[in-house]
Amino acid sequence: MELYRNPFVAEDISRSHFLVTGGAGFIGSNLVEYLMKHGAGKVTVLDNLSTGFRDNLTPFLSSPAFRFIEGDITRQADCHEACKGVDYVLHQAALGSVPRSVAHPIGTNAANIDGFLHMLVAARDAGAKRFVFASSSSVYGDSKELPKREENIGKPLSPYAVTKYVNELYASVFTRTYGMECIGLRYFNIFGPRQNPKGEYAAAIPLFMDALLGNKTAYINGDGEHSRDFTFIENAVQANIRALFTKNPEAFGCVVNIACGERVTIKQLFGYLQQYSGSTVPPVHREERSGDIRDSLADISLAGQLIGYKPSVNVQQGLEITLEWFKKTYYP
Ligand code: NAD
Repeated sequence: MELYRNPFVAEDISRSHFLVTGGAGFIGSNLVEYLMKHGAGKVTVLDNLSTGFRDNLTPFLSSPAFRFIEGDITRQADCHEACKGVDYVLHQAALGSVPRSVAHPIGTNAANIDGFLHMLVAARDAGAKRFVFASSSSVYGDSKELPKREENIGKPLSPYAVTKYVNELYASVFTRTYGMECIGLRYFNIFGPRQNPKGEYAAAIPLFMDALLGNKTAYINGDGEHSRDFTFIENAVQANIRALFTKNPEAFGCVVNIACGERVTIKQLFGYLQQYSGSTVPPVHREERSGDIRDSLADISLAGQLIGYKPSVNVQQGLEITLEWFKKTYYP
C-alpha cells in the first residue's frame, strides 16, 4: 500500500517552507515524505544523525526543494540557521527511549530540554507561524486512569518522561508569553516503515518483526499481558499536518493525545505478527523492564475536537503494511 496518497488538508503548501527537526529519523522522515509528495515549497531537515540515517532521506537529497543540515539542536547557532525563512516547524529531534534515559539522563536532558528550548527560541526569532512538537505518552507516568485524558497525569517514571513534560510546559509558556502558536502531540507507541529494528534501544514492533522474519529469538518483557495503544505512522503524520494548519486558536498552547484509541496486549501483537509473517518462532519471556507501565490507552477525543484528528489506519492494517516494508527492506 502506498502511504500518503491523499493530502490530509486542502491547504496549498507549494509556497511554504517547512523545517523538520529529526527529519532523518523514523517519524521525521515520514513527515518529510508527506510534505515532499504533496508539493511543499521547501523542506529543511536539521538532524545530527545520532539515531537517524541519511539513507532515510535518499529520495529527496537531490531535489531543489529539499535541504539537509547536519547539525545539532543543542547548538543555538544550528537552530537559528535551520529556522531562517521557515514558516512551519515540526520539531521531532530528541533522544527517544525510556531505558536510554535511565542509562544516560544527562545526554537525554541536553537533547530533549536544552535542544527543545533552543528550537523554541530560534523559531520565535525567525517568526515561524506554527511550532508543532513531539511529546509522549510517557508523560502520564504512574497514572492508572484509563483511557488517558490530557489533563490528568501522574508522576513521571523516567528521565525521558520528565523531558517531555518540560517540553509541554515550555511550549505553553511560549504561547502565553510570546504569542507563539505551539501545539504538542503526545504520541502513543508509533510504529511503521523506517522504524529502526537495530540497537539496544529498539522498540518492540521492529524487534519482533526482525525476529520473526529472520528466525531470531523474540523477547517479551514480563508475561505479555501489558497493553499499549499502538499507532500507525500515517495517523501520526496526519496529526502533525492537521496541527500545522488548524485555524482553531483553542489548540495553541495545548497538548493532545495521538493514538489509535485501541488497546492491544503484547501477546496479541506478537500473535498478529506471527500470523501475518507465517512464522512459528515462539517468544521467550524475560524480566519486566523498570519504568514500564502495565496498561496504556488514549482518549483521543481532544485531538478530534481541537485539530480534527481521526485515525484512518487501525493497528492490524498498520502491522501488515509495516511487515511488508520490513520484508522488502531487510529480507528481500
Ligand atoms: P528517531 O530516533 O528515529 O528520530 C529522532 C531523530 O532526532 C533522529 O534522526 C536523531 O538523529 C535526531 N536527533 C537526536 N538528537 C538530536 C540532536 N541533538 N540534534 C539534532 N538531531 C537530533 O525517533 P522517532 O521515533 O522518530 O521519534 C521522533 C520524536 O517522537 C522524538 O521526539 C521522540 O521522543 C518522540 N516520540 C516517539 C515515539 C515513538 O513511538 N516512536 C513515541 C513518543 C514520542
